[in-house]
This record gives sequence, structure tokens and C-alpha cells, in this order.
Amino acid sequence: MNVNLSTHDLRLKDAAHHFHPFTDHGSLGLDERRVVTRADGVWLWDSDGNRIMDGMAGLWCVNVGHGRQEIVDAVRAQMSELSYYNTFFKTTTEPAIHLAEKLAEITPPQFNMAFFGGSGSDGNDTVVRMVRTYWQIMGKPEKKIILSRVNAYHGSTVAGAALGGMAGMHGQGGVIGDIQHIMQPYWFGEGRDMSQDEFGIHAARALERKLDEIGEENVAAFIAEPIQGAGGVIIPPETYWPEVQRILDERDILFISDEVICGFGRTGSWFGCETYGTRPDMMTMAKGLSSGYLPIGAVMISDKMAEVFHGKGGEFFHGYTYSGHPACCAAALANLEIMQREKLVERTANDIGPYLQERWKKLGEHPLVGEARMKGLVGALDLVPDKNDLSKRFSPEGAAGNLTRDHSFNNGLVMRAVRDRMIICPPLTLSHEEADELVRIASKTLDDAYADLKRQGMAAG
Ligand SMILES: *Cc1c(COP(=O)(O)O)cnc(C)c1O
Repeated sequence: MNVNLSTHDLRLKDAAHHFHPFTDHGSLGLDERRVVTRADGVWLWDSDGNRIMDGMAGLWCVNVGHGRQEIVDAVRAQMSELSYYNTFFKTTTEPAIHLAEKLAEITPPQFNMAFFGGSGSDGNDTVVRMVRTYWQIMGKPEKKIILSRVNAYHGSTVAGAALGGMAGMHGQGGVIGDIQHIMQPYWFGEGRDMSQDEFGIHAARALERKLDEIGEENVAAFIAEPIQGAGGVIIPPETYWPEVQRILDERDILFISDEVICGFGRTGSWFGCETYGTRPDMMTMAKGLSSGYLPIGAVMISDKMAEVFHGKGGEFFHGYTYSGHPACCAAALANLEIMQREKLVERTANDIGPYLQERWKKLGEHPLVGEARMKGLVGALDLVPDKNDLSKRFSPEGAAGNLTRDHSFNNGLVMRAVRDRMIICPPLTLSHEEADELVRIASKTLDDAYADLKRQGMAAG
């Protein structure tokens, strides 16, 4: 590696040659590029030596915190022994076998089979192909439509973007057919004329209304995140998921829980479907599966579906060169060992989760915040221009969120902005002192942003 390049030189090279994901390339300034060089626990360091708290666990993935040497050691040992072999054509490898067995152990009882991929996006591509193939094998090829939700995020491949409910993504490159979207359970944004409980039932019944409209005989599956992450941490009312499960129980469609963010302890259970009591037929997993140490994803397949594929299905023409990659499986296994040994799921449910939630919710009293919400260790603040009229929104949309995010970064905390919602998703290893520090910086950030927004005439008060 080139050593001792100045931050400026690194930024110049980055601007010249590196095409960033999810970026407005026209407006990304040179000096805005932050070069992250090192990380440990919940802390990041940049090339200027600034220490910043990683309030987003990377991209919702570093559940066990940064710099865990035992994952590095496990990967190193595996790389020395067998750095790559595939799992096609009647071959397998030890790390893939052990990881599949471990996933069968920690997932709900209906799951005993894992299919491996490299990410959440390709996992959802697998889901699309598998649920439609399932119904073909069952002799019901007309069951093709997959239902999803507005403002869902299911990845950025063609299928992932089509499953997702982001209009901007649909407009870039088009979508695949036979996917339809129902409303999201976003009470603060769309339901405040009802109680939370009423709205939860109303939003759930959108599934029933849709099935009646297009005919259950045409529907393959419903896919949903237990809590929508990239859409802005939309925590559904408590009535939502039980009502969805009631509808699913009455209908002959498959249910896919996209656990890419909610899996691996994030909501205080191993999986989000356990927090909310749903019974999926498939689960998509990635991110926290390896805490981001190496790229790996997995799709869990229920016994009911596996039996059909093991029966008269013939060959399923699907797989990735890196399905079950030995080094990635070794990283995931070491990560899960840490999670179990340090009881990070229980800690999120009973200790650091409630501790941070209590303090985070107090931020809801700030004049800039319309609602503060958090479940497990994933939360959001909905910013509003006028606390006395919660129906008002910032104009232009997103400007307040961007400004607040920049203040947060400069104050030493990574919070993400989803338009005018501030998102937090820290490592599950966060200590009480670090939680206090997180809330202290978030609070100062809200003060700084509020002062700016008032000065610019964008916020009341
Ligand atoms: C991040 C994410 C994905 C996509 O995962 P990648 O690894 O980025 O492809 C899919 N679903 C959800 C819920 C996600 O948060």
C-alpha cells in the first residue's frame, strides 16, 4: 500500500477513480470525502486522526464491534488451509457445513436448510427465483406475484430494487414484473389521525385488501422487513405483525422475512420475526451474519419448502461462485461464537437496549424532533420544522436531515439521514458510557442543527 499519502492526495485519487455507491456524483465535493482508516469497538478514526463514534455499525452490520481479533484469526487460519473451493456439483467444504448447522440451531424451528450467497441483495434474488419455482413445482405456475411494501429496502440488484418500495430506484433501470407494493406501517408519517393500534390493524389489512383485489391464486409470496431499516427505521405498531400473521394463516402464500438488518440480535431476539411473533417460510440474512468482516449472505429455507425442492423439483439452476465461500463462512462462525459467548442478544434485550431506548426517547422532547423511536438497538428521530404542527414537513425535503448529519459527523458521531429522519444502529457491544456519549453528541447535534435551521428560517421558534 502507498503509505503516508495526505488526506488531500487520497481525496484527489478517490475523486478521480472511485465511483461511490448511493452517491450524488455531481455534488460530492472533494473535501467532503472522509477517509476512514482504522476502527476499534464502536470507534472509527479518519485520516486526519479524528475519532468518531460509529453510531451505524458500519452499514447496520458490525454487530460485534470493530477489530475483533478472533474473527481475523479464524479467517487467517481458514485462508491458509483452504482459501477457496465451491459448493456446486456435489462438493462441499467444512466451514459451509458448520455454518449451515449453526444457522439451523439459532433460527426458528421450521428452518433447517441454508443457501449461501454473498449479500442481502443476491439473497433476495434467490428468494424471487425460489418462491416462483416452488409454486411451479407445486403445479401452480400462475402464483407469481410477490407483494412487498412501499418504502421497503430489499437491496440494489435488479430484483432487489424491484422488490424494494423506493420509487427513485424503480426509475433507474426499470423493474422486473409481477411485484406489487402495499402501504407501510409508518404511524408517525401516515397514521396520526388514528391511534397506533388502530393504524397497525389498518396497515396490516392492506395485505388482505390486496389479496382480495388481485386474487390469492396469483400471489406467490409476501416479503417484508420486521422493521424497515433504510426506509427510515419504521417501527410498526404492536398490532401490525399479529394481524399480518392472522391474514397469512388464512391464505396460501409464502412469507419471507428480510432479516438483513433485524437478524442477529438487532431487535433483542436472534431474529426480528421472533420479536414480532411471525412464522416465515424463508428468511434473507446478511450484514450481522458476519458483522461485515467478510461479505456473506444466506437464505433460510423452511422444512415445508425444502421438502418440495427435495421431492420432484429436478435441478434448481441457481448458485453463485462464492456460495459458501470458506473464508466468509469462517468469519461468520467466529462472529456467531462471539455473539453467543458474550450473550449479545440477551444484552440487547435486557441491558443496553432498554438503557439506550430510555435516553434516546428523551430526545423526542427536543423542539426539532417530532418522534423519537427505538426497538432493540435500532432507532430514529423524525425531524419536524414546527413542533406545534406535526403535519408540517421540511422544504426542501432532506435538507434538514443532511445538515443534521453533517453536524453529527463533525461532533464525533455517525448518524445517518434518511431524508429528514436521523437513524442510529450502533454495535450491540455498546457500553453504558458509550451510550451516554452517543446521546450527548446527538443532543448537541440537534441544538446545533436547530440553531442553523432557525437562522435560515426553515424551523419555527
Ligand atoms: C442492506 C439490506 C439489503 C441488501 O443487502 P446488501 O448486502 O447491501 O446487498 C437487503 N435487505 C435489507 C433489509 C437490507 O437492509
